[in-house]
Amino acid sequence: MREVIEKANKLGYEYIAFTEHNPSQSKHSDRQVLELLKRKKDVIDQLNYSLVKTVKKSMQPAKVFVKKVKKVFNALEIDIRPSGKLSIPDNGFDYLDFALVSIHSSFRQSKKEMTNRVINGLSHPKVKIFAHPTARKLNEREGIELDWEVIFEFCLNEKKWLEINADPMRLDLPDFLVREAVKKGVKLTLGTDAHHVQAMENIQFGISVARRGWATLHDVVNTRPLEEFEKMLY
Ligand SMILES: [Zn+2]
Repeated sequence: MREVIEKANKLGYEYIAFTEHNPSQSKHSDRQVLELLKRKKDVIDQLNYSLVKTVKKSMQPAKVFVKKVKKVFNALEIDIRPSGKLSIPDNGFDYLDFALVSIHSSFRQSKKEMTNRVINGLSHPKVKIFAHPTARKLNEREGIELDWEVIFEFCLNEKKWLEINADPMRLDLPDFLVREAVKKGVKLTLGTDAHHVQAMENIQFGISVARRGWATLHDVVNTRPLEEFEKMLY
C-alpha cells in the first residue's frame, strides 16, 4: 500500500481509492466477508491517519511544499450477479466509502435482462460507479448488450458515474460511448484497474479515450479537488 501511495505522489494525485474485488462468496461465509471488509477498513483508516500526520509535518515553514496524497478512499469493486444482486452482504456497505459495480460473468444475457441487472446493481446508495461498463476485452471478448439510453438516463438522475477503465486490454467505456455519455451530461471517472504499481501509469490510455470521446475535465469527476470530489460522493 505504501508503494501505491508513493507512486500516487509521483503522479501528483491528491487522493486515490483502493478498489479491490469483493471477497469471493463461494469461498467465504457472510461473516468472513464482513470480517475481511472490516480489516480492510481498519488498515485504510490507519493509512489515512498516517497521511494526515505527514501532510502536517510537510507543512512546517522550512519545508518546500510538495503535492501529496491527502486521502485514501476505501472502495470495493462488487460483482453484479446475473440476478442483479450484489456480491456482498448488505451490512458490508457500512465499511466502505463507496463502491463500484461491474459484470464478470454471464455476459450473454439479453439486452433487457442485462440492462435491468445493471440498474439493480447500481441502485444501492453507496454504489457510485459502473466499472468497465461494456465488459469487453480487446481481441478476446465482445462487450455486453445494454440499452445505453436507459443506463445514461439512470446515471444522470441518480448521480451514478461511468468508468473509463484505462487498462489497455479494456479501454472501457469505449470512446464512442464516452461521446454519447458526455452529450447527455453523464459524469465519468478515470481508473486504471491497476493490479500492481506499474499499471498506475496506464492512466494515460484512459485520458486518450476520454479525449477521443470529447470529455473535458468537467465531465470526469476524479479530476476534481478532494473537497469537491467528496461532496459529489455523498
Ligand atoms: Zn472488474
